[in-house]
Amino acid sequence: MTTQQLTANGLAALRGSARRLALAREAIRRLEPLYGPIVWEPRFNALDELIFTVLTQHTSDTNAEVAFESLRKRFPTWLDVIEASTAEVAEAIKHGGLANQKAPRIQDILRILLERNGRLELEFLALMPLEEARAWLLSLPGVGKKTVGVVLNFALGMPAMPVDTHIYRVARRLGLIGLKTSVDDAHDIMEAQIGPDDVFRYHVLLITHGRRVCKAQRPLCGECALADLCVARPVFDKSFAAPKYRRPVRGGRSL
Ligand code: SF4
Repeated sequence: MTTQQLTANGLAALRGSARRLALAREAIRRLEPLYGPIVWEPRFNALDELIFTVLTQHTSDTNAEVAFESLRKRFPTWLDVIEASTAEVAEAIKHGGLANQKAPRIQDILRILLERNGRLELEFLALMPLEEARAWLLSLPGVGKKTVGVVLNFALGMPAMPVDTHIYRVARRLGLIGLKTSVDDAHDIMEAQIGPDDVFRYHVLLITHGRRVCKAQRPLCGECALADLCVARPVFDKSFAAPKYRRPVRGGRSL
């Protein structure tokens, strides 16, 4: 299709997407000196990462860590978890919250893995093309795009982008995604904004920025290295309004 055949909306979308690609690159360039260097290093093997990520759902990482350690202490192997009663597993992970939902989910995941592969490990995913590995994990119960991104990226070094609540918030405010973009779509859009080698870096830099500066309630726009690029800054930073944007004043009173 030539440029002449594009509709006005199509052209606007292309311009918008080019702007977002440039914005993503610039965000990495500015944030890495502040929060880097970012070095990828797996914290768990892929199956441990998957179970840990299930435990992080709807709770803090700290609570999930306590639950994960308790689970590993109580059941030294994942086969032990399959063979235990669901009540026993729920008891072991009770510090992570929603134990009665997470315990059967974890057991289901482990059983399916054993049935499909005969082995309780996920390292084989690293040998698959990214889309195939993503689809494989998404077929497991209770596993969404964020969990898939965490397992493939954090444990296996594959270029899948996990978008958590901090990244989603920062991305919407900066204009890296649209205000109406769903979290699900944000994964695909943001993953396509950067090269495969930058996915982990992009994730860590944005999540760190969201935790330290672009906080949910009171973002610290005055300290933000991306403030001049941010479409949401006028909403949060009242000192930002330039005189030309101020409403006209008559008789000393703002209209
Ligand atoms: S300028 Fe404010 S709202 Fe925008 S990214 Fe920075 S901290 Fe967040």
